[in-house]
Amino acid sequence: MSYEAVIGLEIHSELKTSTKIFCGCATTFGAEHNTHVCPVCLGLPGVLPTLNKRVLEFAIKAGLALNCEINKFSKFDRKNYYYPDLPKNWQTSQYDLPICENGYVDITKSNGETKRIRITRIHMEEDAGKLVHSGNTIKDSDTSNVDYNRTGVPLIEIVSEPDMSSPEEARLYMEKVKSILQYIDVSNCKMEEGNLRADLNVSLRPAGSDVLGTRTEMKNINSFKAVEEALTYEIERQEEVLEDGGHIIQETRTWDPDRGITLSMRSKENAHDYRYMPEPDLVPIITTDEEIKAFRDSLPELPDARKARLEEQYGLSAYDAGIITSSREMAEYFDGVIATGADAKLAANWIMGDLSKNLNAESLEIANSPVDAKRLGEMIGLISKGTISSKIAKKVFEEMWKSPDSPEKIVNDKGLVQITDTKAIEEIVDKVIEANQKAVEDYKSGNKKAIGALVGQVMKQSKGKANPQTVNQLLAQKLG
Ligand SMILES: [Zn+2]
Repeated sequence: MSYEAVIGLEIHSELKTSTKIFCGCATTFGAEHNTHVCPVCLGLPGVLPTLNKRVLEFAIKAGLALNCEINKFSKFDRKNYYYPDLPKNWQTSQYDLPICENGYVDITKSNGETKRIRITRIHMEEDAGKLVHSGNTIKDSDTSNVDYNRTGVPLIEIVSEPDMSSPEEARLYMEKVKSILQYIDVSNCKMEEGNLRADLNVSLRPAGSDVLGTRTEMKNINSFKAVEEALTYEIERQEEVLEDGGHIIQETRTWDPDRGITLSMRSKENAHDYRYMPEPDLVPIITTDEEIKAFRDSLPELPDARKARLEEQYGLSAYDAGIITSSREMAEYFDGVIATGADAKLAANWIMGDLSKNLNAESLEIANSPVDAKRLGEMIGLISKGTISSKIAKKVFEEMWKSPDSPEKIVNDKGLVQITDTKAIEEIVDKVIEANQKAVEDYKSGNKKAIGALVGQVMKQSKGKANPQTVNQLLAQKLG
């Protein structure tokens, strides 16, 4: 029997507010343990929380950017469970009246097909603290300490419908959500710091069936690679169990990236296990149409709109425009290159080509690129003017990577200016013709391809600086 996978994601994103959701403690990452705490986030008796208005603003903006409806009446609830990183023994979250519902994002798959992934809801909640184990894992530790700095850091949880049917779709969906949150500037989305993490739900069903199978959940996956690998493994594991006539157990499993497997952790809880109840210490949240409109008006141009504009305005291909707009930083870098008057298609090629290659090799973000948008734009200008050839430009670019000099200075200092002086080129052409009589004979006897070897020789002797067009013209002329 062949199976199809049914995948849903719950994405948790930390919001980039400077203070926590219900108190004034700082949210800075990496501070000394238990220094960003107060009676409110430690859950001491007799204190009252107050909602940080910024959290509400960011949650509504995220909802609008993800095409959600905003609930004008929303409230907080207590999700009760015991764990040492949760000092109140409940997490203040939202249950039946979340701030946003019924959204979607569109993803474009590698085969060019577009698919809509529906978003069920987005709710606001507080993050828990963090256990710090003496060993690598809780199992091989003698002691574990708890750090409450993260307790009360604001989160939004974005819950999708189970609309994805492959690990690739799940990764693309998460990439798209990340990109949108970065565009609207509500989260740093630093996955390595846990700003953005996903719980993956996956089940299998016979291909074509519309009955859902039993699902398993993998929690706190914080890289795109892990999303794809964990789902691929889990789909294969479930397939084997079903093919052997077994049953899938509803459970939470952990992903072990080193061993590339998922392991059973605990049986999965249902909502009723959490004894949700309304949070009596916080008033309901009322949002007006005017407020929603003001938030909507404040949103920047989002990735899909920007992609469409780059295709329209600069004639970029859908593929190129998709890559350029996949992150806000790259789209802004592109704008910076264009602002120097550089040709848009050359700009896109250089950003996706040499620039990305060098950034990847050194694990650098585009915002920290040693070659900034202005200098790349100037260099592209030199290509367009014919001062340097595309081939020489690669050398200039490598020099720019190492030095802060302007491309013009590098070209002059290194003597890389393209030779367009016909007389100078003609001298080289004559020498090459004389030294390569065999190729000349071949050409004259009808093998027109032989001219390639001669062009190559001229380019080599001019150290790549001769204008290739002029070389071709002169050779064709002289060989009749
Ligand atoms: Zn606090």
